[in-house]
Amino acid sequence: MKAIKQFTCKSCGHKEAKWLGRCPECNTWNSFVESEPEIAEPGRRSSHRKAESEHIPVPITSIHVEEEQRYDSAIEELNRVLGGGIMKGASILIGGEPGIGKSTLMLKLAHELKAPGRVLYVSGES
Ligand SMILES: [Zn+2]
Repeated sequence: MKAIKQFTCKSCGHKEAKWLGRCPECNTWNSFVESEPEIAEPGRRSSHRKAESEHIPVPITSIHVEEEQRYDSAIEELNRVLGGGIMKGASILIGGEPGIGKSTLMLKLAHELKAPGRVLYVSGES
């Protein structure tokens, strides 16, 4: 998480995201000092110390990764390059030279895709 700086006027307490030479509220010069940002979002930790402890390095083997839902494209090679199928909600760009078979592959996919719902095939040229 990126630390967000905040500047507060020593004179009136006005807050700004960046340092200003003169306070727009009370017109005092050189009154801004860097202060701890207030995190207004509910559920977020307000303590700086707690936020730091959430970023302690852990061994990669202890990280639990949830498997996302994937749909079988019914094309073994395509499933393989997509990491095991088409991930739900994913946008995938199919690129290649003209005549390489992109449209053929996508029509085959549209026909054989093992997923609920219907297929919308949209094609364009430039
Ligand atoms: Zn002020």
